Amino acid sequence: MAASLLSYASGVCVVPLLGETIGENLERAAARYASREALVDVATGRRWTYAEFDAAVNELALGLLTMGIAKGDRVAIWAPNCAEWVLTQYATAKIGAILVNVNPAYRAHELGYVVRQSGIRLLISAVTYRTSDYRAMLAEIGFEPTVFIGEPGWDELVAAGRRADPAQLRERAATLAFDDPINIQYTSGTTGFPKGATLSHHNIINNGYFVAEGLGYTEDDRVCLPVPLYHCFGMVMGNLAAISHGACVVLPAPGFDPEATLAAVQAEHCTSLYGVPTMFIAELGHPRFGDFDLSSLRTGVMAGASCPVEVMKRVVGDMNMAEVAICYGMTETSPVSTMTRRTDGLVQRTETVGQVMPHLEVKIVDPDTGRVAGRGEPGELCTRGYSVMLGYWDEPDKTAEAVDVARWMHTGDLATMNAEGYVNIVGRIKDMVIRGGENIYPREIEEYLYTHPDIADVQVIGVPDTKYGEELMTWIVMRPGAEPLTAEQLREFCAGRLAHYKIPRYVHVVDGFPMTVTGKIRKVEMREQSVDLLGRHDAASIKAPETPRGAAARPSP
Ligand code: AMP
Repeated sequence: MAASLLSYASGVCVVPLLGETIGENLERAAARYASREALVDVATGRRWTYAEFDAAVNELALGLLTMGIAKGDRVAIWAPNCAEWVLTQYATAKIGAILVNVNPAYRAHELGYVVRQSGIRLLISAVTYRTSDYRAMLAEIGFEPTVFIGEPGWDELVAAGRRADPAQLRERAATLAFDDPINIQYTSGTTGFPKGATLSHHNIINNGYFVAEGLGYTEDDRVCLPVPLYHCFGMVMGNLAAISHGACVVLPAPGFDPEATLAAVQAEHCTSLYGVPTMFIAELGHPRFGDFDLSSLRTGVMAGASCPVEVMKRVVGDMNMAEVAICYGMTETSPVSTMTRRTDGLVQRTETVGQVMPHLEVKIVDPDTGRVAGRGEPGELCTRGYSVMLGYWDEPDKTAEAVDVARWMHTGDLATMNAEGYVNIVGRIKDMVIRGGENIYPREIEEYLYTHPDIADVQVIGVPDTKYGEELMTWIVMRPGAEPLTAEQLREFCAGRLAHYKIPRYVHVVDGFPMTVTGKIRKVEMREQSVDLLGRHDAASIKAPETPRGAAARPSP
């Protein structure tokens, strides 16, 4: 990569982009790896070789054709992780139906919004999961065209496909193009209505393929996916990555369960394990962690939220994942924009989100002026290239706000790029705290607090303050058995190590953080709860004494 003084990089690669549909990609893999294992659903003990998986996908695809599903129709899936999810993903792609991923945690009103917004023709649904009664919620919104997984309707759909003429599938395939939309994913935005990021075959098959290239996948890899399939992390970086390389997808459980994950790695000899940081934290902190043999692991991905350096080091050291990568991205960019490489040193692999992905471009700009920042200067990260979504479903105005005329996706994430092109995510534009005129990136403080031996997990937010505009507050999850930290003790731990204005004034010890299923911390909700807490009388117990005189922060201009 040519060095530049500006924070711009483009990903050089001799491996060309794939110019094929997802269906074509599966057919190539099935022909090449026919007798190797493609999919294992640990919870139900079912497994498929590539030949079996391809046949099952074709039956389901033909079943959907028999039901009259046309190219471009929206077919939704509302289920926790299960084999049928993966089969539906490939079957819809084979007939050019647009798969709409519905978050299994959605309640009736959220489902109703998605069903209306994208105009769902058919829903494939679980019957129940945890506290969700999907059938009752569907009745509540009055939506009928549903096939329930595990019920006779599913078997009838597959049986209809088995009876159908396979030539129909070839005829449909001939009408498909790799730039067609094939997937709508509602972004997990922590406020407002979700937006349906619309992705093409080309967007997601290439992103999955190049993540797999980065991880060095071959047909010998077995990829354990405790991450949700309804999110790109599962269905693109997991399913499409593995299957494009003849590797095997292992689903350890319907929803995240640290013990089931560790057990699946051991029993299925997984070579790769994925997770958002909180999943790895839960696995490493599990009381039976030491009982599991994780020696088959080689690699994996941590992504979705800031990956604490200390957690990365334990994943490398204690989970045998010497080649683990950090990926950074967002749904709207299919998702991965930057990734650490196997050849990177430990520092780059644990302290940065890596370099730009092959065939993509990233730049960091001043969000106010749009000018490209100098190396090392923070600004908004933008991504351009094959991975940028077609747009938000039926929302051209929102698309235009996110993707500019030069086709750059503006991520809303604040980042820096160093001289070698390694990127660091320093926060969300919205999360940046301005205390007394100083810009503070919570990530930096969180990283330091993670080094405290009694702290298991930590988040830093800004709360309103009459004197400084905003003050820092930290929410802490203590390690099991550790005494709750007071604000004074925390101040002592930070004194001399962090600039005085970066030392949190308030400490709130909690059991966990409000978060989305994909590991996104709901900082907006944390802020709301904190404001309530600070308004109450007991706030004094979480507050450190005022910053000593003489050390006062630079006043606001
Ligand atoms: P989603 O669209 O649900 O995948 O969420 C995308 C957002 O997750 C990004 O805009 C980032 O704020 C955050 N994110 C993803 N990966 C990382 C990472 N490796 N480090 C920090 N933040 C991340």
